[in-house]
Amino acid sequence: MKENSNDSSNSQTGALNRIISMKEMGTLGQSFIFAGGAGWGKKALSRSFARLLLCEKGKFSETCECVSCSRIENNQHPDFHYFGEDESKRSFAIAEVRNLLEWMSLRSFEGKAKMAVLIGAERLTTEAANALLKLLEEPPPSSYLVLLTENPRRLLETIRSRCSVIRLRPVQKETIAIQLEKQGIQKEEALYLAKKSNGSFSRALEMHEEGEWDEAKEFIDQMCRGQSGASISLWQKSERAEIVKNIRRTAEILRDALILAIGGSEKEIMFRSSANELKALSTEGAPKLTRKIGYLLETDRALRSNVNQKLALTRLETIWNV
Ligand SMILES: [Zn+2]
Repeated sequence: MKENSNDSSNSQTGALNRIISMKEMGTLGQSFIFAGGAGWGKKALSRSFARLLLCEKGKFSETCECVSCSRIENNQHPDFHYFGEDESKRSFAIAEVRNLLEWMSLRSFEGKAKMAVLIGAERLTTEAANALLKLLEEPPPSSYLVLLTENPRRLLETIRSRCSVIRLRPVQKETIAIQLEKQGIQKEEALYLAKKSNGSFSRALEMHEEGEWDEAKEFIDQMCRGQSGASISLWQKSERAEIVKNIRRTAEILRDALILAIGGSEKEIMFRSSANELKALSTEGAPKLTRKIGYLLETDRALRSNVNQKLALTRLETIWNV
């Protein structure tokens, strides 16, 4: 495998710098695997890579607005193509690989380079993967293939061994928060979403659109009105996913209250703008709050291991009010 095992993962910028230096040193291969979780920037990295190859000015810049770079950004460049964009399809069939091979065999439109990006490469069927091998063995000059995957181990070894594997790591919380603020999201919400996003900017943005923050704030109000115990019995009627969400959210809020209960400052809490409400919740005292958080985590675990939902919630409700 061409992968350097000492260099286990890269930030998006680190990965790009690695590609740029390979190009400068003349060691750039033609086949790549970009591996990393959902929303860790695999697609963005492939666009940057395309800019590096296709920019009219011939010098990489993330902000270049030349015709080529703008087309890449808008997914309209004739020499840059995504395959497998419909991620709801569970497998990547041989017909789609044939399309890719045909596209790759055409001359590049602008005469510079061509780049095909295959999204969700772990979905390749064995037959489709084998069809791709020929391209990996004898790529046409100046053509580049990038396979994006969350799990490179699910690719055939024969595919992996012919590609340079670049592993991405989750985007840092701070970076996500800054990006969210640039989109006009206020700081407190941006930090909250960044923390909950598992290093995925797109997930953070999605949570913003789903109203995650407003819901959480509303939840705090309800808890302050003393409805938290009562609401546990109401959760019984909800779907499991919704219950788990409520449990985690309650734990999050109580953790803030606990910080205040043990004398922590408002700066340390997540819901700073609800400090007054949280102070009221903190009067329950640290031992009780700690116990409640423990119950919630236990119930969360139980629900995830498919314990009877009604039983788990009834138990939670009973110990909650002791
Ligand atoms: Zn450009």
